[in-house]
Amino acid sequence: MKTAVATSRGRIHPTLKSEKRATKLDHRNEPQEEPPGQSSTSGDLDDKPPSSGRIYPASRTATNRYRIFGHISDSIWNDWKWQFRNRITTVEQLAQFVPLSPEQQAEVKLVTMRYPLSITPHYLSLMNPYEPDDPIKKQAIPSFEEIALASIGIEDPLAEKRSSVVPGLVHRYPDRVLMVLTDICPMLCRHCTRKREWGNGGWVRTPSEVEAMLDYIRQHKGIRDVIISGGDPLTLSTRHLENIISRITALRHVEIIRIGTRFPVVLPQRIDDELCAMLANYGPIWLNTQFNHVREITPQSAEACDRLVRSGVPINNQSVLLRGVNDTVEAQIELCQGLLKIKVRPYYLFQCDEVQGTEHLRTPVEVGIKIIEGMRGRTSGLAIPTFVVDLPQGGGKVPLQPNYVLAKTEDELVLRNYQGRIFHYRNPVKAVGATFMALATNSLQPNSLTKGAPDADRVIVRS
Ligand code: SF4
Repeated sequence: MKTAVATSRGRIHPTLKSEKRATKLDHRNEPQEEPPGQSSTSGDLDDKPPSSGRIYPASRTATNRYRIFGHISDSIWNDWKWQFRNRITTVEQLAQFVPLSPEQQAEVKLVTMRYPLSITPHYLSLMNPYEPDDPIKKQAIPSFEEIALASIGIEDPLAEKRSSVVPGLVHRYPDRVLMVLTDICPMLCRHCTRKREWGNGGWVRTPSEVEAMLDYIRQHKGIRDVIISGGDPLTLSTRHLENIISRITALRHVEIIRIGTRFPVVLPQRIDDELCAMLANYGPIWLNTQFNHVREITPQSAEACDRLVRSGVPINNQSVLLRGVNDTVEAQIELCQGLLKIKVRPYYLFQCDEVQGTEHLRTPVEVGIKIIEGMRGRTSGLAIPTFVVDLPQGGGKVPLQPNYVLAKTEDELVLRNYQGRIFHYRNPVKAVGATFMALATNSLQPNSLTKGAPDADRVIVRS
């Protein structure tokens, strides 16, 4: 089932033609925290990193914060608005933290003219700057292939622009809608399905646009599921979100709200007490997020997820299968087992959509099927996500599984298990009722089970 859908794999954030009419963010007219300002444009963070000595560790991420941002106090570091304001958005800023040759800097600059750059200090601290194949860097740092291969793929592969009923509201399936509240994300993921929209950046839905969305939902009583998305909706202030959520929950026919966000991964400090207390007041609210690699599971993200779960918000993960990031059985097992430990359910593993500017990160579909096959038997079923391809033209999601059915007749299937062993599995006998009656009648006569009658212990009667 493909509803515009959750989280941050990009598609959770379908984009509409009408979005272009949305008001550009104007900080003069918005409350200070709505969202908490654009990133620093000075080329430096609020505070500069230490300038002497080697500041990058050779490996491992947990300590990078202290190596790179050791001069930032805990209270500032844990202030999500500081994190948001201090996103790295220019090549010059990036070069302060990640070694880039002049040629690489020129390439990144060229890419960002089409596909901008935005990395939170938290996410930056997860990188190993000296490792070219670092899975965190691959998701965050622009690659020249984004423009070199940009002619391959489709700008809007899921045809998300077509299903808008009022500006910002996508109604594709009878019972659910998607509210696109902003196009702002704390991090711009290089594999984003919506990267075509990055150039329009910086808008938040106006009150009248939100009102029109709520009116539409109010009038359509068949809508039972509202997905709040973006961009990333948690870029809005808690007060603003509450205003919208409270009005949705007041609509009696709406049964659940889903929030699609990558904040628990890229800026977990956003999941603060104020937000969780607000979410706990409403509901049922579900949250879909996108962890793609085990290294994204940090003490901060674990704490964020714990807070959400304790506030009554279940969390599903919708990861994207990415070349060189998580395209092995081992990487997926590590990721999914790690997610279970922080109480996040591995829900979907998405095939990376055929989006322009992402070709270098895509894998053949067969890789995803092989990964699922390799996970089966090696980890618990709870840790195995459903591998899904989202069809072009808005055709919806198709779950893909390894083929375990080798042959079948009306009476039985020939199945293989995860070890490759072959089993015959019998279907229920046809005309079960008649067979049962014959068996029962015969059983009244001593020694009357005739040759060829079904064995008593093999007759299954279902009500
Ligand atoms: S940039 Fe990342 S968080 Fe934002 S919509 Fe795209 S995939 Fe989701």
